[in-house]
Amino acid sequence: MKESEFIDKLRLRFNPGAQPGGIGDDCAVLAGPDGNDILVSTDMLMEGVHFRSGRFSPYDIGWKAAAVNWSDIAAMGGTPVGSFLSLALPSGLDESWADSFLEGFGAVCDAPVLGGDTIRSSSGLCVNVTVLGKIARGKALLRSGARPGDIIYVSGALGDSAAALKLLEAGENIPAGCETLLERHLRPIPRLEEGAALASSCGVHAMMDISDGVGSDLRKMLTSSGVGAEVEVAKVPLSDGLRRLCFERGWSGTELALCGGEDFELLFTADPSVKPEIPCFAIGRIVEGDGVKWTGGEKDYKGFEHF
Ligand code: ADP
Ligand code: MG
Repeated sequence: MKESEFIDKLRLRFNPGAQPGGIGDDCAVLAGPDGNDILVSTDMLMEGVHFRSGRFSPYDIGWKAAAVNWSDIAAMGGTPVGSFLSLALPSGLDESWADSFLEGFGAVCDAPVLGGDTIRSSSGLCVNVTVLGKIARGKALLRSGARPGDIIYVSGALGDSAAALKLLEAGENIPAGCETLLERHLRPIPRLEEGAALASSCGVHAMMDISDGVGSDLRKMLTSSGVGAEVEVAKVPLSDGLRRLCFERGWSGTELALCGGEDFELLFTADPSVKPEIPCFAIGRIVEGDGVKWTGGEKDYKGFEHF
């Protein structure tokens, strides 16, 4: 069973009314006090699946657990309010591990930790974080807002994290000049300021963060919005480090950028008459219909699948 099939089953069982901003978006959107909406999201990291402790320091694990969660608040345009931190800890972790983990967790965002749970794990470290954010009522940018004619943008270069993972999985060291790729894999930066700027500007219609690759995540936005897209593959931004590595190895940078996950950049669409207020790259446009046409591409790019 695919991840999406399981989630669809769960949604039909527990949330058949498909509450806007409920299951299926980066955060749930709930009416809050003082003219705000409350944003809630949760993400889990599991040793052996999302990281291997030999390669991630405790600081990196703390950082990444925080960053992937705050990225979902950024994806709606929200401002952090607080988090809940739940840990399943294997025995044998010492105080310096805890200090370093918490240091990394807190370095991403200084919103308070409001609660959580701590248990013992019999099989590796597991970190679950729930984040709360806020945004002016009705201003959250949903995945469902893309309209035909919109330009599709990404907030930064893609594929660095996937390239670093590919090297790590092959047991290789990171070559000189490619350190930024590893940095982006270990310590992604949630685009909180950029997301909030986009949510408060006119003409931005839909947004999400890129956790599973554009090949997967753009399709989620298209399905949710009931539209299709044309992507100009040559316009997908690649960093200099990724270009250099791909040149040396004969890898396809485009494939890593579109099919690799964990970039945590923002993917958004905006009216063609609007110039977005953040640094970003136009990669295509929204059209009527469904699916993605990859102009200038070599294949039908699919993103990362968890199952
Ligand atoms: P993200 O990458 O932002 O976490 P996805 O694109 O993977 O989100 O979409 C998954 C959607 O399904 C999210 O809205 C998430 O809250 C929801 N979801 C995933 N797993 C579960 C679950 N076990 N129970 C309820 N909702 C879930
Ligand atoms: Mg997300």
